[in-house]
Amino acid sequence: MALPRLLPRALAPLARGLARPGCGRALQRAASASAPAAPDFNSFVIRTNTCGELRSAHVGQEVTLYGWIQYQRQGLFLVLRDFQGLTQIILPQDEAHSHVKKLLSNAPVESVVRVTGIVSSRPPGQENPKMPTGDIEVKAETAEILNSCKKLPFEIKDFIKKSEALRMQYRYLDLRSFQLQYNLRLRSHIVMRMREYLCNLHGFVDVETPTLFKRTPGGAKEFLVPSREAGKFYSLPQSPQQFKQLLMVGGLDRYFQVARCYRDEGSRPDRQPEFTQIDIEMSFVDQAGIQRLIEGLLQYSWPEERGPIMTPFPSMTYKEALADYGTDKPDTRFGMKIVDISDFLRRLDIQFVQNALSYPHGTVKAICIPQGAEIMEIICRPDGSLKSLLTKFLGEKQQLELIQVLNMQVDDVVLLAAGEHKQVCSALGSLRLESADLLEAAGLVLRDPTAFHFLWVVDFPLFLPKEENPTELESAHHPFTAPHPSDTSLLYSDPTKARSQHYDLVLNGNEVGGGSIRIHSAEQQRFVLEKVLKEDSEVLSHLLEALEFGAPPHGGIALGLDRLISLIVDAPSIRDVIAFPKSFRGRDLMGNAPDYVTPEELEPYHIQVSWPLAERGKEKL
Ligand code: ASP
Repeated sequence: MALPRLLPRALAPLARGLARPGCGRALQRAASASAPAAPDFNSFVIRTNTCGELRSAHVGQEVTLYGWIQYQRQGLFLVLRDFQGLTQIILPQDEAHSHVKKLLSNAPVESVVRVTGIVSSRPPGQENPKMPTGDIEVKAETAEILNSCKKLPFEIKDFIKKSEALRMQYRYLDLRSFQLQYNLRLRSHIVMRMREYLCNLHGFVDVETPTLFKRTPGGAKEFLVPSREAGKFYSLPQSPQQFKQLLMVGGLDRYFQVARCYRDEGSRPDRQPEFTQIDIEMSFVDQAGIQRLIEGLLQYSWPEERGPIMTPFPSMTYKEALADYGTDKPDTRFGMKIVDISDFLRRLDIQFVQNALSYPHGTVKAICIPQGAEIMEIICRPDGSLKSLLTKFLGEKQQLELIQVLNMQVDDVVLLAAGEHKQVCSALGSLRLESADLLEAAGLVLRDPTAFHFLWVVDFPLFLPKEENPTELESAHHPFTAPHPSDTSLLYSDPTKARSQHYDLVLNGNEVGGGSIRIHSAEQQRFVLEKVLKEDSEVLSHLLEALEFGAPPHGGIALGLDRLISLIVDAPSIRDVIAFPKSFRGRDLMGNAPDYVTPEELEPYHIQVSWPLAERGKEKL
């Protein structure tokens, strides 16, 4: 069955340890201090074994198993399942045990039962090599139905397709699947290794910070929580940013937390309104220090079965990332980089090209899609000539030159964009990814599904023009990010040109972490808030004041745990690595949250709802 493939190798020794017959587990653990301690899955409970651990070496033993009925057949046998695997149970056929047979064969699938019996070898030829317990079966002697299961909304089998809405409505049933069991157990294992690395090996302190706080300016939209003081609201923090900096002022020196964060960003397909970060802050550290820490942390907690990861991770500046890949989170598993052909085309009399080049930051760029003819019209013909609207502007020599500039092969397709640098890059960046998807859908393998390409993106601009009003600036990371050491004076003279000490960690084209070295001077922090961002610094007066009381230089980072785990297990969505996720509209489909409350319940908060009663219950899921 699927379990052995799904068990992370990091967890496998634990399972192997348990498989040894008659092992006095606690004793065994104490005896081998150097070997990783195998958890005892059978401590404190009546079962003798889990459903995944019996092997030939157990033959002859009497065992007691607890689990769910996965499958049963004609009163002959059933398959019992728990978190660790499957065991075949043979129903007794003799008269003396007829009640056991009746009990078990009448119990509906997914009923939870206890079975006690003797482990036997399967008859020759009936072994199942695909099942770790496939050499044995348990001959039931006594059994008990602990709870019967009513008709299920869907079968608990990984290969059965079910709608996501149904899976989320019955999440507790979905959690019984081996895949979700694997995802959550691997997540737990990785977090435990991270704690070990941070606390035990590097002296970090795990500190919990409040989730009821106040608004942090400049950043994601925060959820509000009403208070009993009329008109006053708490905010759920988008991250523990202020607290972790204040912990440094408080001399904690090295902080970390598995932190729950909240962002009210509306419906987004693969975002969650609440999510988890591995949140880290250190005093007296620089950018390289944080980067080496994170590389060590990931290497230490990385599941063995996903292959080793090499450190240090490569690094790329924001400028390079944008120019070569059209995004600040490049997927470096494949080529198709953006090529600047402005100089080549400048010489030609093509109106739209000349127009584009005449503007400030005007450019013409291209990507060459290898084997693009699979998905689009051919542009480089087998005879070496080009098929394109452009060819009428190009002589033979120029066509050849273009083929060389772009390193085109037969059947490659070139996509070209002319206009403002940033817009051109990001358009080609999106086309690059979409072309890769299309090529892969057509059967070409561009991105090795087993490859993990980590990348640091550094030297971000400190500020970016606001999308809704480009004459105003917003922080590229957050307002506490320090300027690049070489650009400090630019902060005061031309903040739009200043780079920052902000770094992002990218994995296979996804941002899995981000952080910065912080501003630790109150005067500089006040300047950024008031003069550059035009924010009301009063909201942050406590932080500004703290910086005046001997705040140490400090910096940190946060890893997005949900995204990281979903990439490690290759899950289609981050919802597959969260026990109780929200729908993409931010709803809990199982408990039906958010939900209405009565006017009486709202009264202490001095709140009245203006939404008409008639509209209630019409919202989409
Ligand atoms: N708090 C930041 C974030 O959530 C991370 C950091 O700067 O440490 O992105």
